[in-house]
Amino acid sequence: MSTYRWHVLGAGSLGSLWACRLAAAGVPVSLLLRSSQRLLQYQQAGGLALQRACTTEQWPLPAELLSAEVPISHLLLACKAYDAEAAALALAPRVLPGAQVLLLQNGLGSQQAVRQHLAQARCIAVSSTEGAFRQADWQVVQAGVGQNWLGDGGEAPAWLADLRAAGIASQWVANIDSRLWRKLAINCAINPLTVLLGCRNGELAQHHATLATLCAELEQLLHHCGQPPAAEPLLAEVQRVIQATAANYSSMHQDVQRRQRTEISFLLGHAMAQAHRHRLRLPALAALHTRLQGHLRALGLPVN
Ligand code: NAP
Repeated sequence: MSTYRWHVLGAGSLGSLWACRLAAAGVPVSLLLRSSQRLLQYQQAGGLALQRACTTEQWPLPAELLSAEVPISHLLLACKAYDAEAAALALAPRVLPGAQVLLLQNGLGSQQAVRQHLAQARCIAVSSTEGAFRQADWQVVQAGVGQNWLGDGGEAPAWLADLRAAGIASQWVANIDSRLWRKLAINCAINPLTVLLGCRNGELAQHHATLATLCAELEQLLHHCGQPPAAEPLLAEVQRVIQATAANYSSMHQDVQRRQRTEISFLLGHAMAQAHRHRLRLPALAALHTRLQGHLRALGLPVN
């Protein structure tokens, strides 16, 4: 039995998946919920339900508000990128010096913002290829087996063994920024186009010239941002991903389909902000960004 407790902020798709697996492995877990109303709804539901491999398990994990007073030594920040900074700010008074904080957010930008508010903690970024979705509130389905890459430039922490013991495929990497940039670049090539064309990933195979132009600009950006390894043949990797996930709708497409806010600011928006910072002209990416923002605006969705 662990001597420490993981606090999991965000009982959404990934947060619930992590929380239930940790609990199943005997690691103490508490959920952090955003309001008294959400806490009441959670209590009425009787806990989290995790569906995986044809079985559904019920996990009545303890839950509390962000404003509770229990100090936090291990935190899994499992909200969307646009909610991460505010959550970190709200939790800062509870986070102990030297606390371990895992950042599950996709894209780039939110990790830096969180680190500013949790300077007393060790913030570790995670790049995840796991898949989960919420069937309903407090009911999560594990959609696909994947891998989590973790790192902060330092040595691997001892608790990594506990993640693996809980069946959370975890690998410590020396250069997590390179992985996050590579994933961001692939995402910038695929996701906005799937939204604008209203298609599954596989249909992008018919848009080779557009993808080639976008990838060439993304490679330039990666070089200017000091990430040359992440730029290694990007187009070939994008084509591989398109083929491997041909039947899937991208996460951004799914968000738009559900009329939910996208993580655009931490993906294509972040890429454009960095291009601006480096005074780099990337006309195809800029046009894609403008078109995507126009599309979101027309649907009444936030453009950031
Ligand atoms: P999600 O299902 O929308 O869950 C996010 C959760 O965060 C929601 O339950 C939300 O609460 C909660 N939250 C937001 N602000 C909060 C606050 N201040 N206090 C407490 N809870 C708060 O999102 P997700 O799909 O798990 O994605 C999380 C991150 O992982 C994203 O960056 C995503 O891109 C990345 N990711 C996801 C997957 C996947 O398969 N789902 C795969 C790879 C990466 P409410 O329910 O109250 O709104």
